[in-house]
Amino acid sequence: MTIEAPVAGNFIRDIIEEDNRTGKHGGRVATRFPPEPNGYLHIGHSKSIWINFGLAAAFGGTCNLRFDDTNPVKEDVEYVESIQHDIKWLGYRWHGEVKYASDYFDQLYEYAVQLIKLGKAYVESLSAEDMKAYRGTLTEPGKESPYRNRSVEENLDLFERMKNGEFPNGAHVLRARIDMASPNINMRDPTLYRIIHAHHHRTGDKWCIYPMYDFTHCLSDMLEGITHSICTLEFEDHRPLYDWCLETLQTPCHPQQIEFARLNLTYTVMSKRKFLRLVNDNHVRGWDDPRMPTLAGMRRRGYTPEAIRVLAEKVGVAKANSVVDFALLEHCVREDMNRRAARRMAVLRPLKLVITNYPEGQVEEFDAINNPEDTSAGTRKVPFSREVYIEQDDFREVPPPKYHRLYPGNEIRLKAAYYVKCTDVIKDAEGNVVEVHCTYDPETRGGTSSDGRKVRGTSHWVSVPHAKRAEVRLYSHLFTVPNPNEVPEGQDFIMHLNPNSLEVVENAALEPSLGNLMTGEFVQFERTGYFSVDPDRTPEKMVFNRTVTLKDSFKV
Ligand code: ATP
Ligand code: MG
Repeated sequence: MTIEAPVAGNFIRDIIEEDNRTGKHGGRVATRFPPEPNGYLHIGHSKSIWINFGLAAAFGGTCNLRFDDTNPVKEDVEYVESIQHDIKWLGYRWHGEVKYASDYFDQLYEYAVQLIKLGKAYVESLSAEDMKAYRGTLTEPGKESPYRNRSVEENLDLFERMKNGEFPNGAHVLRARIDMASPNINMRDPTLYRIIHAHHHRTGDKWCIYPMYDFTHCLSDMLEGITHSICTLEFEDHRPLYDWCLETLQTPCHPQQIEFARLNLTYTVMSKRKFLRLVNDNHVRGWDDPRMPTLAGMRRRGYTPEAIRVLAEKVGVAKANSVVDFALLEHCVREDMNRRAARRMAVLRPLKLVITNYPEGQVEEFDAINNPEDTSAGTRKVPFSREVYIEQDDFREVPPPKYHRLYPGNEIRLKAAYYVKCTDVIKDAEGNVVEVHCTYDPETRGGTSSDGRKVRGTSHWVSVPHAKRAEVRLYSHLFTVPNPNEVPEGQDFIMHLNPNSLEVVENAALEPSLGNLMTGEFVQFERTGYFSVDPDRTPEKMVFNRTVTLKDSFKV
């Protein structure tokens, strides 16, 4: 598979080109994608993946996958595995073995000891609450802790005893000794290590102190020889700390942190914490629910990696945060499917149509085109008989204005088959239409008339005795408003959940060839949308997800 690399004109690419020109990193390009294994990846991550892996590829460099696994309380191997799976699914391969920040815990501990020896770190014994009070605000400087001037010996002793498990959670932390009056709050003696007595999915019970993200990240980048450490904008204010750690420790190399804007989409949320809430409170069926903006959910829904990469490309990289219209993602999916999906006939809400002048027991096969966008896809045979299903929507006993589909007395085309004209309507005791009767014109075989007579409506259909049955799941936005994060005081994003985001159609009728599709395969149901086979499919029952509707609401 060839992967589109981020094209020229994006500012990160420009920085790398300039670095290569000046020989800043000896012409090397080494990036990394550093997820925390505390949830499944979402479409926002795919942008970071696209940038990191794409730029490495564009410059003949490397991209590492490194798990930022410094908080054992929130992390899990399930996530470690799903993340690797999702990256591969997107079409990317990391350099060498998978890396873990926890692989560096010994070295990080040594670096912390070194900072203490340099007088650049100390053990803090204030409570979390007091530390917060001492930190100051955006407008007021912080206050120095009474523990700030502990001797190097005392700090070394306490830090070692923290490591040895002598203290409970929260008793002490290790802090950098920088500047409590810094205008940048991140530089007001940030915490480097905290005590967490918890089992770690890789290091087991070896550690009961865990390094903080800011301390871990810069040093992990350095240890791996990363040249460009690309991250999202919320880390911009952390960059001085990133640089401080590396400068103070005089490390052999100094990666450059570069920030870009996060990808956000309308009508959804984009945070693992919020996804956890949706999953744990059963608002969705799981991390891979097709309504979730997780890569697992999108894959299950039928979105292709190609479409997701095209979205990343279209959105590009920017320095300013923005929200991308969900319709643009759907547009990318639709364009990809239009090129590749075979066309098939499926009737979601069947209404039986009986052709009274068609010979009982007769079956004909018609050739139907598989994909008008791709002639190499050829044609297939579709069986036709005296009784076919059409969509309930394609018939009205009393047609509204401009209705060109079937109604008493009107003639329409059954796609690729015949013209039929409605002669009768059969109702049940409650007055519901249960069957329509038609006559067909044998002179219109294949769906065209020899006398040049035109019809304005064309219906897709499925032969009743040949029909396969399916459950079809139709999705709409998970939230009812473009920005579900916007809520009144005291409320949360759950209030904006769309109660109708999933509609299950129990008994759709399929043309026979659809009964053989396997999980993950996708098709276009003519006139209805693009659909993919859900993993819930069994040999007895097909299950489809509507991936995306046919109509494009995004204006290009
Ligand atoms: P979340 O807020 O959803 O939990 P995160 O930033 O905590 O996300 P990480 O696992 O730390 O998730 O992210 C791994 C990488 O992906 C980081 O470099 C992060 O900057 C990037 N990333 C996360 N969310 C987005 C997004 N919406 N758009 C672009 N990049 C993102
Ligand atoms: Mg994070």
